[in-house]
Amino acid sequence: MKNFYNRLKFNHIKVYQQLQQWLGTSLPCVLCDAPATAPNHAHLALCAHCIDVLPWYHAPRCPQCALPTVSGTLCGICLQHAPAFDHTLTPFRYAYPLDRLLHQFKYHQQLSLGHLLANSLLSPLSTLTENARPEVVMAMPMHRNRVQARGFNHALELAKQVQQQWQIPLDIAGCTRVLDTPTQAGMDMKTRTRNLRGAFATQRSWQGQHVMVVDDVMTTGASMHAVAKVLKQAGASRVTALVLARTLKSDEP
Ligand SMILES: [Zn+2]
Ligand SMILES: [Zn+2]
Repeated sequence: MKNFYNRLKFNHIKVYQQLQQWLGTSLPCVLCDAPATAPNHAHLALCAHCIDVLPWYHAPRCPQCALPTVSGTLCGICLQHAPAFDHTLTPFRYAYPLDRLLHQFKYHQQLSLGHLLANSLLSPLSTLTENARPEVVMAMPMHRNRVQARGFNHALELAKQVQQQWQIPLDIAGCTRVLDTPTQAGMDMKTRTRNLRGAFATQRSWQGQHVMVVDDVMTTGASMHAVAKVLKQAGASRVTALVLARTLKSDEP
């Protein structure tokens, strides 16, 4: 009889553990404090409602720079002055409340928020066919002065998640930012491009490689263009940009 109860107890715990694993852990939502279900290893979660109201980017867009186009064809800018990167993948528009979450992650060093955000990067990646999959992933390089000031490179934290989830090798030091250029907010594309001349350098050959560059936000695409140009000059065959959010003009979808 004792054995029977022991067995029952054991099974009960096991069933409970399995259920918990299946249901996940209950945590308060980062944005509204409502109960949210997260995978068991997570420290932060969003509730179903807040996930719904995130600025998901569904509209048809230019495959190269991710600006909206009527039927998902190349935009006029890419047709006339194609950037050095070939393709842009992004799950979000840069808008509320994603901008707040990103700010918390970048300036308050909330690394687990970075993990939560990085999970959203995996959905556009899953749209790639096997042979369109990049061979190597890298983060948008940050000048060492800025890494020191901030404590970490936020883009590298996002890129690490991509490496872990998709088993794409991560290159950490192959391309670096050698010039600490001024903050680019408010500058137009031409000024940004001029400022970024000579900002990036690569120490290795990228011969024939399809490289994926991860960053948090693409605003004008000038930084991505500058990095991609350096990678292509060093032999890269293709550069895919994977960004968490794309800045659009306010009247765009
Ligand atoms: Zn919520
Ligand atoms: Zn375009």
